[in-house]
Amino acid sequence: MDNQIAVTQSSMPPIEEYMEEIKDLWDSHWLTNAGVKHNSLEEELKKYLDTSNVTLFTNGHSALEGAIQAFELKGEVITTPFTFASTTHAIVRNNLKPVFCDIQLDDYTVDSSKIEDLITDKTSAIIPVHVYGNICNFKEIEKIAKKHDLKVIYDAAHAFGIAVNGLNVANLGDASMFSFHATKVFNTIEGGALCFKDVNLKEKLDSIKNFGITGPESVSYVGGNAKMNEFQAAMGICNLRYVNAEISKRKQVFERYMENLEGVDGIKLNIPKSGVKSNYSYFPMLFEDYKLNRDEISELLKRNGINARKYFYPLTNNFECYQGVFDVEKTPVAKYIAERVLTLPLYADLDLNDVDRICEIIISGSLNE
Ligand SMILES: *Cc1c(COP(=O)(O)O)cnc(C)c1O
Repeated sequence: MDNQIAVTQSSMPPIEEYMEEIKDLWDSHWLTNAGVKHNSLEEELKKYLDTSNVTLFTNGHSALEGAIQAFELKGEVITTPFTFASTTHAIVRNNLKPVFCDIQLDDYTVDSSKIEDLITDKTSAIIPVHVYGNICNFKEIEKIAKKHDLKVIYDAAHAFGIAVNGLNVANLGDASMFSFHATKVFNTIEGGALCFKDVNLKEKLDSIKNFGITGPESVSYVGGNAKMNEFQAAMGICNLRYVNAEISKRKQVFERYMENLEGVDGIKLNIPKSGVKSNYSYFPMLFEDYKLNRDEISELLKRNGINARKYFYPLTNNFECYQGVFDVEKTPVAKYIAERVLTLPLYADLDLNDVDRICEIIISGSLNE
């Protein structure tokens, strides 16, 4: 059997370049707490994301929790169950109640036409997810939020570098969370950032990630510890130099999948919408009326050394830790998608011949070989 193909592979800069970047740290002995690398990465990201306010975190999840704390959300938060554990857990861990809105059949983002029915006098925010880099119906969401005086925090973990008609998604909502985890399009090993609209929030967010400390003798918030360290930031500075090249290579892989799989009966692909500059982060596909179902395809690929992922399955409102708390039947579209979706391996250096091989296995798809 050929070598295993993972669902993803972390991008890394040339080792000499990283060594050069971290050399300074042996001179300064400044390893964390808003160091030179940290501050310089914040500046670089403002430019790259074409946005005004950025604060870095040790990971994306803490950035999301930091935003929830900074906005002092109360009561209920409308969100999606078709996401990574982080989105739902961030809400629950802040003693808020997630209220799950169903998703759209075509792009798996929150169905904005169903949000208003879920709003009560306890609702304080909407936390939608740009899932697989598909951008939420942000104009509708903004309208609803304005009308009902709700905050909007986007989980933009999948959406690094994406722009809609020239507008970078970092500028949507009151805040947007990005993840720089090793598996994401742009990584700082572990890491994340929050982009936010109100410049006055900078001090508060910076202090929330550092125990709520606001001065040598003052602690103003019950903050945690979620600071990005200098080694993470140095990785980010290096990786950012290559991210456009990485995205171009991902695009080639993505397009090769499309060429192979477009028009195959019974499967549905996820095509970027017009006007969207994509980052080609994932290749999800739906097995709707195919000769094999999703689980059979997943098994078949595994037998051939290919690790596709049931991403996202199970839905977060069906997690073991939430049994008896939420009802998956209330989000039937999300349930339908979660049972049929599979994301194929996709990373910059994935060999196009491997892409062809993966597609051949799917197309010839027989379990009894
Ligand atoms: C990766 C991810 C997160 C969490 O980010 P971390 O940096 O791993 O903490 C949150 N939401 C979604 C949708 C993600 O994919």
